[in-house]
Amino acid sequence: MTRPTQATINLQALRHNTAHARTLAGTARLLAVVKANAYGHGASQVAVAIAEQVDAFGVACLEEALQLRAAGITRPILLMEGVFEAQELDNAAREQLWPAITNEQQLAWLEQAQLSAPLQVWLKVNTGMNRLGIAPAQVTAFLQRIYDCPQVIDHSVAPVVVFTHLSSADNLHSDATLQQLKQFAELPLAGAAVARSAANSGGLLQWPASHYDWVRPGYMLYGNSPLDAAHSNTAALKPVMTLTSRIIALRNIEAGEAVGYGGTFVAQRPTTIACVAIGYGDGYPRQAVNGTPVLVNGQRAALAGRVSMDMLMIDVTGIANVALGTPVVLWGDGLPVDEVARYAGTVGYELLTRLPARPPRVVVED
Ligand SMILES: *Cc1c(COP(=O)(O)O)cnc(C)c1O
Repeated sequence: MTRPTQATINLQALRHNTAHARTLAGTARLLAVVKANAYGHGASQVAVAIAEQVDAFGVACLEEALQLRAAGITRPILLMEGVFEAQELDNAAREQLWPAITNEQQLAWLEQAQLSAPLQVWLKVNTGMNRLGIAPAQVTAFLQRIYDCPQVIDHSVAPVVVFTHLSSADNLHSDATLQQLKQFAELPLAGAAVARSAANSGGLLQWPASHYDWVRPGYMLYGNSPLDAAHSNTAALKPVMTLTSRIIALRNIEAGEAVGYGGTFVAQRPTTIACVAIGYGDGYPRQAVNGTPVLVNGQRAALAGRVSMDMLMIDVTGIANVALGTPVVLWGDGLPVDEVARYAGTVGYELLTRLPARPPRVVVED
């Protein structure tokens, strides 16, 4: 294959970020979230690379868990949304997965199941996200039923983990997180044999009160900050994915000439336009506007005109040593994906998880 477009996955950066998460977690255990193909990075490779550094993995569904087992991962795997059908509990028992219990139906399925081995479960409580989870007032009754359930591992061996999800941990100044943590702290768990978990990346990075017994970072492991403001805990993060391509055409145009579909970029001065071999068919967002930054020879250049399916154009006027074949960084090392995402009206999470298979993932050790 000779098309020069690829996503480089840097395992040294991944391990570095995981170690950083481990340090921030203190004595809490670390569950690495690798759902959605490890946020587009390649779930099997990511999980194998950090398995020794983490206590468990978190995924969105059985299929994602089985992919990790097929890759040789032996750590516990949490099904963070629980199972979608009762039969999945058989797979969970066989593969030692931890299903979340997020509602009455999932608990009833567990109570009625005949399993080859008892399961460890997590109990999801809604503290204000209003997505998944039982109401705080239901916790006592659910815990009692879970403890009474022969399909659940005895709580003296492994406690149920009561967990919640924060809606606004990226924002240090919103009251929502304080209110959620207050609700969570006030759950009637006194004397119950439970562990607790509340922190996603935002919680781990800037809400120590959310750390409890298990932290569940995803995004930060991939070297990106979910926070809406600079923070000392994010400075050490290193981007794991760097999306690159190369210049495949160069031309000089006059003031007044337009570039690309619809002619949405019009040169204001004599301008050097480079064409780069990457487009929305490779996961680069078509919504990115004129001026979206890219890196050429370590310098910032700007997107010029609409992104095509296989190509995009950039204004490289005044940038030294630009030639056919010059590498271009679309995001990653030196250019945070979140910065690019802002120009496309979205977040880095979406750009990473929507990266299609078309650009090959090239795994490097550092
Ligand atoms: C996705 C997810 C996480 C990880 O969130 P990040 O913002 O990527 O750290 C943690 N817990 C649950 C339940 C999730 O769905």
